[in-house]
Amino acid sequence: MAHIVIKGGLVVTAADEIDADVLIDGEKIVALAAGGSAAAEAWTADHVIDAAGKYVIPGGVDAHTHMELPFGGTAASDTFETGTRAAAWGGTTTVVDFAVQEKGKSLREGLDSWYAKAAGRCAVDYAFHMILSDVTDASLREMDLLVGEGVTSFKLFMAYPGVFYSDDGRVLRAMQRAAANGGTIMMHAENGIAIDVLVEQALAAGRTDPRHHGEVRHALLEAEATHRAVQLARVAGGPPLYVVHVSAEEAVRELAVARDAGLPVFGETCPQYLFLSDDRLREPGFEGAKYVCSTPLRPREHQAALWRGLRTDDLQVVSTDHCPFCFRGQKELGRGDFSRIPNGLPGVEHRMDLLHQAVVDGHISRRRWIDIACAAPARMFGLYGRKGTVAPGSDADIVVYDPAAEQTLSATTHHMNVDYSVYEGTRVTGQVETVLSRGRVVLDRRRWAGSAGHGAFVPRATCQLVG
Ligand SMILES: [Zn+2]
Repeated sequence: MAHIVIKGGLVVTAADEIDADVLIDGEKIVALAAGGSAAAEAWTADHVIDAAGKYVIPGGVDAHTHMELPFGGTAASDTFETGTRAAAWGGTTTVVDFAVQEKGKSLREGLDSWYAKAAGRCAVDYAFHMILSDVTDASLREMDLLVGEGVTSFKLFMAYPGVFYSDDGRVLRAMQRAAANGGTIMMHAENGIAIDVLVEQALAAGRTDPRHHGEVRHALLEAEATHRAVQLARVAGGPPLYVVHVSAEEAVRELAVARDAGLPVFGETCPQYLFLSDDRLREPGFEGAKYVCSTPLRPREHQAALWRGLRTDDLQVVSTDHCPFCFRGQKELGRGDFSRIPNGLPGVEHRMDLLHQAVVDGHISRRRWIDIACAAPARMFGLYGRKGTVAPGSDADIVVYDPAAEQTLSATTHHMNVDYSVYEGTRVTGQVETVLSRGRVVLDRRRWAGSAGHGAFVPRATCQLVG
């Protein structure tokens, strides 16, 4: 197979920054050598990519996406084809999406239907978590089989009663099973029973606008559920617990306490919580619906705690929770009743750039950027080694990143299949220039060169951040 050399760039990983050339043979990285060294000069290449003045970084790992997710009587607007293409444009070369168990059905049926949706359509590699919405003796047994086939993480919801919700007993039983089979528990930590009471009261009082979505999903109900999840996991024997889309300062504090106690507890936040705040929900007309997601956008004061958590490793991962719904025809389902606005927003394309902007702004270091966006999510979900770093033996998932390019984020130029951008008009410094997925150039100096079906399913090991 073809030899590719990426020449003259600064290779940035979670651990190192080195001026090095990178040699690729087929789908794998086979060597790094100091630029201009005898070793590098001896390489023969069919294709040389000039990375002078650029960063050479691992392809991003987005551990939280929802392509084509059925929700609230509609479905997320990105398919696996459009969503993974947009991911690649933004420098993400692996997505971990959520297969869904429907109530009354098996995990197998849910997982098989997600395999079918993704097969032959993805531009970059993909893996699956499994959403447990019906914890029964049968689905608990199935968890063991899924771990064996590389679907090693299971998401539970303390929110959305009547839909995905599991009560504490079901949560405990799933956690016990994960503790025994090596699986990881992912938790949507919000007290959905209490939230539904507040929703009902708000609607009855005529408070129906999008802004009320943020108010009823109280920060303390996120913190309370986070605390409860941590304690239930301890009682269950301590499976790795990964709390998704942490947005409240009070919830970060719960994670910090758990981690200080040495518990295998991890936290994820998302760009929307780092860069946007609840004033967006109060935009005039029905515009606030564009920003409805759960957990909700919080008052700006929470952002400092999230950045601090990322710096101190109380939060380990930034994923997108990419779950796009068009404003027209989808978000509009909730006019006159905020509780009917489909929950979710688009973001898979902009994570790497926004986090690079955070480097420019001084929130995080360059290596921490790569850690939270590539290496830590790969380790968390059993992909490290193949994904998440630039090293001999790794898949040649590589981004040549121009740290000096300037761009403006907009729905008119993005590649996600959705009719608005939550970052409309935002100026950022830095841009993805060229992207390789398993040795294949899929984006060539900002020209699309990928194809649906190149992306392959990646079976995952169990969590690499424990034991
Ligand atoms: Zn989600």
